[in-house]
Amino acid sequence: VKASNSLSFSLQAKMSRPVQARRLEGIDKNIWVEFVKLAATYSKVNLGQGFPDFPAPDFLTEAFTRALGRGNHMLHQYTRAFGHPPLVKVLAQFFEKLLGRDLDPMTNVMVTVGAYQALFCCFQALVDEGDEVIIIEPFFDCYEPMVKMAGGTPVFVPLRPNPPKDGKLMSSADWQLDPAELASKFSERTKAIVLNSPNNPLGKVFSCGELGLIAELCVKHDVLCISDEVYEWLVYDGKQHIRIASLQGMWDRTVIIGSAGKTFSATGWKVGWVVGPDRLLQHLRTVHQNSVYHCATIAQEAVAQGFQRELMLYGKPESYFVQLPKELQQKRDWLVQSLDGVGMKPIVPEGTYFLVADISQFKSDVPDVPNSDEPYDYRFAKWMVKNKGLAAIPLSAFYSETHKNNYTNFIRFCFAKEEATLKAANDILQKWKREKSSS
Ligand code: PMP
Repeated sequence: VKASNSLSFSLQAKMSRPVQARRLEGIDKNIWVEFVKLAATYSKVNLGQGFPDFPAPDFLTEAFTRALGRGNHMLHQYTRAFGHPPLVKVLAQFFEKLLGRDLDPMTNVMVTVGAYQALFCCFQALVDEGDEVIIIEPFFDCYEPMVKMAGGTPVFVPLRPNPPKDGKLMSSADWQLDPAELASKFSERTKAIVLNSPNNPLGKVFSCGELGLIAELCVKHDVLCISDEVYEWLVYDGKQHIRIASLQGMWDRTVIIGSAGKTFSATGWKVGWVVGPDRLLQHLRTVHQNSVYHCATIAQEAVAQGFQRELMLYGKPESYFVQLPKELQQKRDWLVQSLDGVGMKPIVPEGTYFLVADISQFKSDVPDVPNSDEPYDYRFAKWMVKNKGLAAIPLSAFYSETHKNNYTNFIRFCFAKEEATLKAANDILQKWKREKSSS
């Protein structure tokens, strides 16, 4: 009797009310969960998710080991919530140099769990129910759900491709904002614009003119700028990364976001930061202290030492921030050549470690699925990893639902990879091309 009583109690105790918070509606899908699993299952060569397969620099991993072994047991304990003091101090010194203004390490810098949490803090702290946030397409996909979770409304404006002249390869610089279209998105409802230069996935490095236009509109409409600059050091062909916060009227309204993961090729450490005026950062601190509180002390200590080295070597050939883009430019050029050689037309990126390529000439290889809800590039990328062992990410994943279907002929590759990985990718593509021409 006792047993059956407890059984009926447990049946009654089963919850029937909806458990999901309303703000999660429609944002449960995530491209990375699906494609990381596919790559792990099928890929021989993974150029999908954005992380290097080469080691982080020795000076950084040695700093981590030293921090572990130095006998400073306090590095295993909590540190200051808004950033380990040595790290915020050196970041302030570094950004003083880059921005040409005095910074207070305690109020103008905050350390976060990767740039991802920096973004989360920005949206939660600065976006209210009903606020509009302008997002430039294609965009790092988490911006949209993060704006929605904060109660805001994303407003999208696309970079529009202009065909290159004289049969030249397209460049990421050929993707541009239409100034009138951009201006039309600003209104009294606009709270912020998200800028990501250099841009993931295209590798576009916004020009001085384009940044000037964005800055002018931000000032005119009293709008904030969330400036995701995680690829700030990865700029090629002598191009310059311009920080929008250094343009007139912008410091006061801009939060700069950075990532040690991208900067020092150590994405798993998840150390990121924000730099900006105290009047904005004070609200980010409120979100941070009420959510994650702080990130791993020992990783912060090692990143601080990495920055101290880079501050000493600033602009010198031995600087990692000089060497890494040099190496990556060469890798970019290999992948460009390799893709061009098989007719998967690359869009040459000016920055980042991503490259977008046109798959139109490969359409006949992938069986058509009439009336499929899934965009063509998703089906192509899935087919490619399953049948060729090569992993990439569909470009339409970086577009809003309404614009997705205009950009289904492209996939994104990551070229922050060892020479052997890029050679293996080239072998797959060459073999594929031979099979195509003999069929
Ligand atoms: N912003 C952009 C544009 C990114 O590409 C990424 C990582 N892919 C992030 C932010 C997140 O960086 P982190 O790994 O430091 O959280």
